[in-house]
Amino acid sequence: MFTVSGMPILADEMEVLTELKSQLALNGIYMFKSIKPITNHIQFSCPFHKDGQESKPSCGITTVDVKTGDGHITKAGTVHCFTCQRVCSLEEMISYCFGKNDFGAFGTQWLKKNFLTVQYENRQEIDLDLDRGKKKEVRTKNYVSEEELDSYRYVHPYILNRKITEDVIDFFDVGYDRDFVLKSKNGKEYHLECITFPVRDITGGTLFIARRCITSKLFHYPHGVIKPLYGIYELSLLEKYPDEIIVCESIINCLTCWSYGKYAVALNGTSTPEQIQELKKLPCRKIILGLDPDAAGNRGREKIKKYIGNSKIVTDLIIPEGKDINDLTKEEFDNLKEGL
Ligand SMILES: [Zn+2]
Repeated sequence: MFTVSGMPILADEMEVLTELKSQLALNGIYMFKSIKPITNHIQFSCPFHKDGQESKPSCGITTVDVKTGDGHITKAGTVHCFTCQRVCSLEEMISYCFGKNDFGAFGTQWLKKNFLTVQYENRQEIDLDLDRGKKKEVRTKNYVSEEELDSYRYVHPYILNRKITEDVIDFFDVGYDRDFVLKSKNGKEYHLECITFPVRDITGGTLFIARRCITSKLFHYPHGVIKPLYGIYELSLLEKYPDEIIVCESIINCLTCWSYGKYAVALNGTSTPEQIQELKKLPCRKIILGLDPDAAGNRGREKIKKYIGNSKIVTDLIIPEGKDINDLTKEEFDNLKEGL
């Protein structure tokens, strides 16, 4: 699996090149006569010189990060031709093949359209729903069945190692799916071991299962779902509703807060208009923004402050740069300061 603009592509370079070759052929463009995998790279007929018709393939793409003699690192996915000396990214090459001179913008869209079905936990601000606007999203009332939930009820060491306590695992019904099958758009199946997080609405019905792969940073939830505030149902079960609630981006950060004895909800992103409405309605006095201390997190903080207005006290949890709540020990967490 490799990434484009920080997003995972559910295919390897060989599949991408093969698909590219066949789609170009459908458009009457015949290139990539030869494509063959060699250790750490794939060699193919260069599209940049001789009108893409060279006889011996002299262009290559790296499939792993390669360290060269001078210590420079050539990133996986770098295209390099030994004959014409062209160096570019895969997405730039795809753009070029389709006759676009757009610094890889078309190539990126092409990769997303053909191979992308997943989302990274730390890249929530990126909207992967390319069909948005064409169809209306409908909140489904088909809850996940108790039978399915029961099939995930195992405690995997991964989640305990992430500082989440067993009480919290129980309360949120966090589980484990040993064989989650993801299909890329070209039909290839990927089998992943995942931690499962039932996402419930205020009535306790499970709207969908969010999953975190235990072997990569892959985070997944079903396509087209409307994300509620994660934790809204669990808060309603408390004997006394908390006076203040921390708002986190990720589920793991939210569960870390609970494990450290503070109440929290997660946005699974940096907030949607629906979630801000839900935040406004929470029967608490104060909201503490615990979004990640980066550009996307800061935009989310500003947006929430703007739309919550004066209906609640809103403060910022000041998290050290480059960290998120789950990175912190309980002591570090307890010592975090709040700002306005
Ligand atoms: Zn070339």
